[in-house]
Order: sequence, then C-alpha cells, then structure tokens
Amino acid sequence: MKFNASRYTEMEYRRCGLSGLKLPAISLGLWHNFGDVDDEKVYRKTLHSAFDAGITHFDLANNYGPPPGSAETNFGKILHTDFKQHRDELIISTKAGYTMWDGPYGDWGSKKYLVSSLDQSLKRMKLEYVDIFYHHRPDPDTPLEETMTALDLIVRQGKALYVGLSNYRKEEAAKAFKILKKLGTPCLIHQPKYSMFERWVEDGLLDLLEKDGVGCIPFSPLAQGMLTNKYLKGIPKNSRAAKKHGFLQKEQITAARLEQVQQLNALAVKRGQTLAQMALAWLLKDPRVTSVLVGASSSTQLLDSVGCLKNSTFNKEELSRIARILKEQ
Ligand code: NDP
Repeated sequence: MKFNASRYTEMEYRRCGLSGLKLPAISLGLWHNFGDVDDEKVYRKTLHSAFDAGITHFDLANNYGPPPGSAETNFGKILHTDFKQHRDELIISTKAGYTMWDGPYGDWGSKKYLVSSLDQSLKRMKLEYVDIFYHHRPDPDTPLEETMTALDLIVRQGKALYVGLSNYRKEEAAKAFKILKKLGTPCLIHQPKYSMFERWVEDGLLDLLEKDGVGCIPFSPLAQGMLTNKYLKGIPKNSRAAKKHGFLQKEQITAARLEQVQQLNALAVKRGQTLAQMALAWLLKDPRVTSVLVGASSSTQLLDSVGCLKNSTFNKEELSRIARILKEQ
C-alpha cells in the first residue's frame, strides 16, 4: 500500500503537554461511522485519506460501534492489512469506563474492569499494546487510587505506553494527576467535550492542564455535526441526527442553535473557509489544545476538516463577533 510521501510535512504536529509525544493537530475518532452498521468501503477510504493527510492518531474505545466492540474489530482488520508497515507511525488509543458487558465487572473504574477491558480491546484490534489507554469517565464509587493504580499497572505491563483521562472535571482531574505522578505514570492527556457550543473546560480545566503539563484533545469539536453547514437546510437523510443509532438527537437542533449556526456560517464564508474549518481553527488557536478529535462519515468531510489548518488565525473583530454570536443562546 502506497501513501502520500509528503504527509508529514503537510500536517502540523503539536507537543502533548510536557511529554515527549507529538500529536497531529487533527486526530480521527471512530465513535461513529466505523461499526458493523457502516460501509467498510467508506470507512476504509476515510482511514486512508487520514493517513495520507498526516493524521497519525486514531481514537477508539471498547464500546464504539454499534455493536459495541465492532469499531475496534474493524479498525484492527484494516490496520493489519493496509497499515501493516506503519504501526510505529501511529498513535492508537482506546478507553474503558462505560458499560461494556453484563454483571458488576463490565463498567466504571475498578481494576478488574479496566484490565480485562483492555485485554479484550487488544484482542479485537490484534495489537500487543495501545499507545494511550484512557479511563473514559470518572467513577463516583471506586476509590480514585484504585483506578489510577490500574492505569499505572497497565503501563507497567506494557499494554499501554501512556494513560489519559476523559470527562473528568477540574477537581477530580487534579486529584488523579497527583496520584498518577506519584505512581510514576504521569497523565499524558485529557479528553474533554469542547467546542464553540460546549465551553466548560474554559472554567479552570485548561489552566490545570497547562499547570500540570497535560495535553488536551477536545472531542466532538464540531458538536457532532451541528457546527458545520450540514443542518442549515433541515436534517439530511444520512446524517447522525437522522440515524437511529446516532447520538445526536433531533431535539438538540433547535431554532436558536440554527440561528447561531447561520451567523457563524456567514462569518466562516467571509473568512474564506467552511464552518467546520472555522470551528476547528477556533479551538486550535489555544496552544493548550494539542489536537482536535474529529469524527467523519466520509473522506471528503475529513479532508474538509483538515483544511482548517490553511486559515487558523483570527483577528480581534472576528473573535468578538464569534463571542457575540455564542452569547445569543
Ligand atoms: P464531531 O463533532 O467532529 O462530529 C463528527 C460528525 O460531524 C461527523 O460524523 C459528520 O456527521 C459531521 N462532520 C464532520 N466533519 C464534517 C465536515 N467537514 N462537514 C460537514 N459535516 C462534518 O465529533 P464526534 O462527535 O464524532 O466525536 C469525535 C470523536 O471524539 C469520536 O469519534 C471519539 O473518538 C471521541 N469522543 C469521545 C467521547 C468521550 O467520552 N471521551 C465522547 C464522544 C466522542 P454525519 O455523520 O452526520 O455526516
């Protein structure tokens, strides 16, 4: 398999916190569009386009599909056929934290769950190790020490190179970072939901990440497709909001949201880019953001998103216009 030889000069790579690892400014997530319900031809092409564009980071989780687990199986299959020679050029992440199997050991944050889940993920992807293993969401009942010790153990066992946390709020993240540092396995990265429409991380989490030298990779940076031109004329048939298994609910696409999207879209057009590109560039303007973790149901979408790097700066007027639009909710 031949890939674009200049891919590494075309992509921008950013250091992940204070670690030795660099990530591409755009990473690809496999939450939707890579399950057994999806078209293999389409997602194989998306993976090829991603790698050709210099995207080296692919993000998975035990439960991605549907059915749960199928995104890892499908990704593993393509990895071992098409990307066989390139494993050392890839950063593959997976996670555990949401419901994966029945009974008391298939969910949340016990050592039992995390260790068995990663073993299952490695089998599905036919890998000896993943590059990053995340705890997917905080567990209010398991002692934080147990969850963090499990992450440390997994690294010591060689099943993951780095660990990350996802969906942890500022206070619990701070405690977890402390424990991990003490154990000798510092947290590499935090994966929060962050977009123009979801800005809780600006309330202290980003400051904490900077202080503790932890990278940040926002998920759903396009608000699952709302921050694109996709829903401007209604809900298209093949969109996430129209799909039964899609996580975006039709009710989330309100008239007020659409009004904001219209206005943001007009500004993006003025800047000579698509709304998706502007929404991603807006996140990447903050140096604390290591990479934006996009989803894509086609290679065309993904390449459009990658195009954000061609115009990623904002002048003062543009920033205050965006701030005004986002306030009107
Ligand atoms: P996005 O916000 O990027 O939404 C992706 C969707 O937006 C696509 O499926 C597509 O919708 C639409 N889209 C993408 N690019 C374009 C474009 N250029 N033009 C028009 N439409 C576009 O991210 P996701 O919600 O998919 O999340 C990304 C990744 O983040 C996941 O795959 C996963 O890895 C991670 N994640 C992590 C979570 C966590 O708890 N840690 C939770 C959720 C996600 P359509 O399918 O309708 O065509």
